[in-house]
Amino acid sequence: MKTEIVKEILDQYGEQATDSPFERSFYSRDLAPVPELLVGPLFKTLPDIVVRPANTEEVSDILKTAWKYTIPVTPRAGGSTVYFNTVPLHKGILMDLNLLKGVVAVDEAAMTVTVKPATTWIELERYLSGKGLAPKSFPSSTPVATIGGWFSMLGYGIGSLKYGSLLSQVRSIEVVTPEGKARRLTRDTQPSLEWFAAAEGTLGIVTELEVEIRHQTQLKHYLLQCSDPLEMRDKMQAVIKGAEVPFNLHFTDQECLQGMKTLGIAPGGLDHGYLLAVDYEGSDQELEQAEKIIQTITEKNQSVRLLPVETAELEWEEKFKAMRLKRGGPSLLGAEIWLPIKNLPQYLADVRKMSQSYNFKLFSYGHVVTPDYATVMTTFNADEMHTIRYIINLSLVKKLHDIGYRYGGSPYGVGLWNAPMIGRIHQPSELKRLKKIKRDLDGKGTMNPGKVYRAPFILNPLNYALAMDMLAGIRKVFGRGW
Ligand SMILES: Cc1cc2nc3c(=O)[nH]c(=O)nc-3n(C[C@H](O)[C@H](O)[C@H](O)COP(=O)(O)OP(=O)(O)OC[C@H]3O[C@@H](n4cnc5c(N)ncnc54)[C@H](O)[C@@H]3O)c2cc1C
Repeated sequence: MKTEIVKEILDQYGEQATDSPFERSFYSRDLAPVPELLVGPLFKTLPDIVVRPANTEEVSDILKTAWKYTIPVTPRAGGSTVYFNTVPLHKGILMDLNLLKGVVAVDEAAMTVTVKPATTWIELERYLSGKGLAPKSFPSSTPVATIGGWFSMLGYGIGSLKYGSLLSQVRSIEVVTPEGKARRLTRDTQPSLEWFAAAEGTLGIVTELEVEIRHQTQLKHYLLQCSDPLEMRDKMQAVIKGAEVPFNLHFTDQECLQGMKTLGIAPGGLDHGYLLAVDYEGSDQELEQAEKIIQTITEKNQSVRLLPVETAELEWEEKFKAMRLKRGGPSLLGAEIWLPIKNLPQYLADVRKMSQSYNFKLFSYGHVVTPDYATVMTTFNADEMHTIRYIINLSLVKKLHDIGYRYGGSPYGVGLWNAPMIGRIHQPSELKRLKKIKRDLDGKGTMNPGKVYRAPFILNPLNYALAMDMLAGIRKVFGRGW
């Protein structure tokens, strides 16, 4: 990026912009530690400038400059993604959106709230709670994740089973297109707001969202201890088919439970079994109905144990501590997979086999987010300070995705690191459609380049598969004690 353009932006935005190498360096990584040895030779992750627009006009102005000079723009909000979604690959402008914050309006008649995109879910939840209202769903990264960030990702989490994806709850958005035009979009406009959901910042900047909300209600929590994955899956399906849909349904496998036990954080101090947490929200009548569903499931099955209500409530309170196993650290690696629930037992059985053949511990947990699919996270401890071992361990992430793929699963989220597996995420016709949208809206390719649609050459699917399989082979032979 030319020095004059950097200077022009610095002069215009004053304290809202920085070219300090120290400050910029924070934006060349995300939550997942990736060794510089791997990244440095391939990508230019240090942005030339970081700028924080405070309103739609400023977003538009910055994008117009980027468009004019064909400068890459990487949007970043809460920065809670882990696939380099918010990390620049070709320097340029890092647009930090965190000044675009706050509730614009609540419409209680329409039951919607209009928010600025960098409002975090916890901020929205607190704001609405004062009015007896609540979001219909939220991610388990609620304390840091933003509304615009979750919309730009896939938008499934707590509440999705009952209320659908975030996309299904968004009525309208304001976006600034790559060439700098502000537009208000609905499902009926061209482009449609749907194009921007899960676009990961590759089509423009979302500057406002109108989202459906609900009335705050009471919650009731249950925790079932099942003896094996098959039983857990069957109970999961029985709960889903019940007359009352749970607000949240998540599971923890036995290895995960034992890992937590070692760290002294297992629910109820348990060390065996497969846990199914079922959380309902609703009126007294709906909660009574829910109670009956759980009674029927547990009374019929002597082998399923209903844990004390205090343990179930505690598990709900821990809902934002999805990474609690990191305490066994120092780092945590893993794969998050969009998986058909019906295949969960087979997936877990193969994960167990993998754990035995590579001689390391694998922990799985996940959320049921539609009647048929769960987002399943399988993690393991790694040590980023041992660079070579850590890089070799990265190959095991691909092996986990291979298991997921075998059972109809695909990576959840793309960014850079899952781009080599894009062919597993979308059918060819769907990918073609998405690439056309990208070309139509961002002909110059300035928005978040190098992500989502295809992997950069060095990470093309063939290279990636060969390299990862080779490293996994090395790990199997030489890394058994790591
Ligand atoms: C502990 C933990 C739990 C998590 N739980 C969940 C979960 O339950 N469900 C889930 O889906 N994910 C989850 N995630 C992943 C992540 O937190 C979410 O996807 C989150 O919503 C991202 O929001 P963010 O504000 O951090 O976005 P960022 O990480 O800042 O950005 C995400 C992507 O969106 C783009 N972007 C951000 N804001 C905008 C905007 N306004 N306009 C255009 N593009 C934009 C960025 O360029 C990037 O590509 C979890 C992560 C962690 C660490």
